[in-house]
Amino acid sequence: MRQTGHHFLQIPGPSSVPERVLRAISAQTIDHRGPDFAKVGMRALDGLKTIFKTDQNVIIYPSSGTGAWEAALVNTLSPGDRVLMFETGHFATLWKQIAEKLKLRPEFIEGDWRGGADPDLIEAYLAEDKAHEIKAVCVVHNETSTGSVSPIAAIRKAIDNAGHPALFLVDTISGLASLEYNHDEWGVDVTVSGSQKGLMLPPGLSFNAVSQKAMAASKTASLQRSYWDWADMVGPNKTGYFPYTPSTNLLYGLNEAIDMLHEEGLDNVFSRHQRHGRAARAAVRAWGLEVLCSKQGQESGVLTAVLMPEGHSADQFRAKTLQNYNMSLGNGLSKVADRVFRIGHLGDFNDLMLMATLSGVEMGLAKADVPHTAGGISAAMESLQRGGQPSIAAE
Ligand SMILES: *Cc1c(COP(=O)(O)O)cnc(C)c1O
Repeated sequence: MRQTGHHFLQIPGPSSVPERVLRAISAQTIDHRGPDFAKVGMRALDGLKTIFKTDQNVIIYPSSGTGAWEAALVNTLSPGDRVLMFETGHFATLWKQIAEKLKLRPEFIEGDWRGGADPDLIEAYLAEDKAHEIKAVCVVHNETSTGSVSPIAAIRKAIDNAGHPALFLVDTISGLASLEYNHDEWGVDVTVSGSQKGLMLPPGLSFNAVSQKAMAASKTASLQRSYWDWADMVGPNKTGYFPYTPSTNLLYGLNEAIDMLHEEGLDNVFSRHQRHGRAARAAVRAWGLEVLCSKQGQESGVLTAVLMPEGHSADQFRAKTLQNYNMSLGNGLSKVADRVFRIGHLGDFNDLMLMATLSGVEMGLAKADVPHTAGGISAAMESLQRGGQPSIAAE
């Protein structure tokens, strides 16, 4: 049956694409070696620096985020290198699997999937590595499977406190342009990101922001690479071109999205996401349900992962919500499959969209006979009206 009105795409990425970006993407594809392309390419490469907050190189790939994960590793590391990773959730686990396939030696600091990476544990682990065999520390900034945020600046400090020379690699695929991020100031060596989350674009672009230290490491790193090689990119990028066919139309969209982010103001973008995160958590608590992230101050403004009451299926609830209210919610991934659902509140989003989303969740809970207390909606409204400031009782 035809569903009326628009679909609510409330998964934590891909996020819904604003009209302005869709229109920009719909322009005719041009010659990527022709004179007009340089303006498009330069605007994208320079514009991204203002989003990553870096004066160093940003590499753009026509790929999903997974490609940029691989690129960060193959450009900086050599076979057999030890790599320290932190198990924040499903995405950290996937990155580790890529490292294994590439014949690196990733080591996991285990986590309970309910918070971000712990700087103290990272510092202690690195302090043990007196021979400096660990060549990189890899952390997921916004763990999209759990809705927890890792303290990147504090982890930088932890690496420095341990006096360790390892490169610092950060995945902010779902954090960039939604959560505060400072590639240069936080001393990150490679930041990995993608187009389809906070940047409000369709899937298909991914990024590496690269420090000079990482660029220098790439000169001696010996993992096999071709498509992902930074060295082939930086030359043509200087004049706005790419070594192979770029995603021309997605670059049109990227340029529009960057304009939109600056029109709103990045700090306003960040506080909007925080405010929506607080309101979503207020709703979850009023329903009598539990937010998966249990570490205060590490809850994500991008998404809220909600634990189902014991004995109830998150996937059945999501199916009922889709069927009845035309809204897609995120599923629980691997370890928390069917135990968790995720509410995305990222990208091109506003108060009424959040309220509609939360209404859909509350109605879906009722339809699926999930035990809960009504009143999440008014709790969220109250939170928004307080400017999203947490009430003393709530947080
Ligand atoms: C979405 C996501 C990825 C994977 O990106 P793809 O575009 O699906 O390859 C990796 N890490 C995080 C944190 C993500 O949110």
